[in-house]
Amino acid sequence: MKPRARSPYTLAVGELAVTVERKRVKYLRLRVSSADGALRLSAPPRVSDAELRAFVASRQDWVRRHRERLAARPTTPRRDFEAGEAVPLWGETLFLGDRAAGRARTCRREGDTLLLPADATATRESRQRLVHQWYRRMLEARIAERLPRAERAVHARAARIEVRRMRSRWGSCTVQTRRIRIGLALVAQPRICLDYVLIHELAHLRESGHTPRFWAIVERAMPGWRDAHAVLRGAAPDPGLWH
Ligand SMILES: [Zn+2]
Repeated sequence: MKPRARSPYTLAVGELAVTVERKRVKYLRLRVSSADGALRLSAPPRVSDAELRAFVASRQDWVRRHRERLAARPTTPRRDFEAGEAVPLWGETLFLGDRAAGRARTCRREGDTLLLPADATATRESRQRLVHQWYRRMLEARIAERLPRAERAVHARAARIEVRRMRSRWGSCTVQTRRIRIGLALVAQPRICLDYVLIHELAHLRESGHTPRFWAIVERAMPGWRDAHAVLRGAAPDPGLWH
């Protein structure tokens, strides 16, 4: 075997440029970066470049489709949290309104308008913080309302529920401490999604893995869970809103 270029290196396959990373992996794994569509291939040390080329060539259609999907994504501009901007709540849309006069220090909803308080709104960060605080109150109130029902349905109780800003997950469960974290971004999704995430994380208290037994517990507790699951799979926390 002739010595190869040091990993990572670039391999040209037809019109594709692939960054090859030699790793202690068992199988070839090709990824398309969601940021810029770049291709990365993890490969075990002993597979030849000719075999890598053949593998990538066999995946060309998949790469093209994947890149098309990425290109079709709506871009989410950074928000300024100024009056007139749309913000989501439970799958619906509210608009930020002119600041309420007076000494209020928190956001207040009036119909489809979310009013920011008059003070402490000088910077994007302070306005965002106020909107996030309001979101957190909405989510915590809804959790308090829905949790007892979810716990009865799953036959499991959490020791503690925390609302957190999460980048790529909707919830998590630490089985040992029976602590559940709920992603703040769930407040933007239809209410059924929060119900589903509560059921899902509580079900982990009875079955830690995503086994058939786990899904049977979820199914018994919430027969309509698939609708919520599908919504969350197609959604991702909007970075312009949460970060
Ligand atoms: Zn899970």
